[in-house]
Amino acid sequence: MKQIYLKRGKDESLRRFHPWIFSGAIHHMSEQPEEGETVEVFTSENEYIATGHFQIGSIMVRVLSFENETIDQKFYEHRLAVALDVRRCIGVAGREDNTTYRLVHGEGDNLPGLVIDVYGKTAVMQAHSVGMHVDRMTIAEALKNVMKGEIENIYYKSETTLPFKADLNQENGFLLGGCADDIAIENGLKFHVDWLRGQKTGFFVDQRNNRSLLEHYSKGRKVLNMFCYTGGFSFYAMRGGAELVHSVDSSQKAIDLTNANVELNFPGDTRHKAFAEDAFKFLDQMETPYDLIILDPPAFAKHKDALRNALKGYTRLNKKAFEKITPGGIVFTFSCSQAVDKDHFRTAVFSAAAAAGRKVRILHQLHQPADHPINIYHPEGEYLKGLVLYVE
Ligand code: SAH
Repeated sequence: MKQIYLKRGKDESLRRFHPWIFSGAIHHMSEQPEEGETVEVFTSENEYIATGHFQIGSIMVRVLSFENETIDQKFYEHRLAVALDVRRCIGVAGREDNTTYRLVHGEGDNLPGLVIDVYGKTAVMQAHSVGMHVDRMTIAEALKNVMKGEIENIYYKSETTLPFKADLNQENGFLLGGCADDIAIENGLKFHVDWLRGQKTGFFVDQRNNRSLLEHYSKGRKVLNMFCYTGGFSFYAMRGGAELVHSVDSSQKAIDLTNANVELNFPGDTRHKAFAEDAFKFLDQMETPYDLIILDPPAFAKHKDALRNALKGYTRLNKKAFEKITPGGIVFTFSCSQAVDKDHFRTAVFSAAAAAGRKVRILHQLHQPADHPINIYHPEGEYLKGLVLYVE
């Protein structure tokens, strides 16, 4: 195995189990590794410290292990078995009324660069690093063994998540099985998962608990679900007894998916309507007096440099909702930008409330669910935050 030697003092974060090695920390390499190759890392004192996947870029090594072990099928089986145990312990796996959950959440499950979501009998696997792409067949074998009987298909979907310049000829497709049944169940509600063309792995699994909470606030309310994508919040609101539910997304494909999912759960229900429109335009022009508004926009800041503009975006969006919502209304507002922390987000929403001149109380502070765990040594893994607000 090729070896990487760190500069003096650059082993400190690794001693605290942080799983990333930046290019600036590297002193020299025994030989130039290929992208995605597994490498061993040594301190400036020639002491072994970690094994990980090499990749050209600012993060040069993603650490898989701090113990001197071989990265093979057995290694992946062990990591996946622990991940599955965690999901059983949370209570999301092994249920009939919930066949949808995240099995592997990258660094949060000590598998940097790997995401696996389970939808019924199909696991959708996504590589965010070249190393995980290179190891995909080994991981698929390990997954098949660990999930014996629970999954029959593994779909690999990494076309858009791998570095473009690595030129890997990556293709989406089934690594195991192959299945046209795209219906999964979340808390007893059904939905189609478009793992072929959908965003992320086809569904936003991370909003499960927040959708459940919304269900309990929906009775008799007029609900506006902004940035609805597959309509998750909409059909929870309908089950919760909403008087009407309007779903908005700028993408016509998202609107078609939302309509299909609502029809799957509530055939012929006339309480729901969906609109393919820009969120800001819709909020400006809307006439319906909504008393429950969900704002779950895409990440406004993908990088730290975009932070200031992102915060302005959140303030502008939330201000519009505060100006329009009827007295006694509830707002569920989210940010999934990793670069925006919960204090930043809360300040942006605070500015919006002040600018709209409404009295606003925080009822709940929301975050990503337990099947999207945060590795305590890798705080960067925290990304989803939300507030439930009462607007007087
Ligand atoms: N709330 C969803 C996830 C939202 S993802 C869920 O629970 O599954 C963000 C969505 O915002 C995407 O579907 C995207 O098409 C949509 N979007 C992006 N920009 C938009 C805009 N300006 N107006 C309306 N929708 C937008």
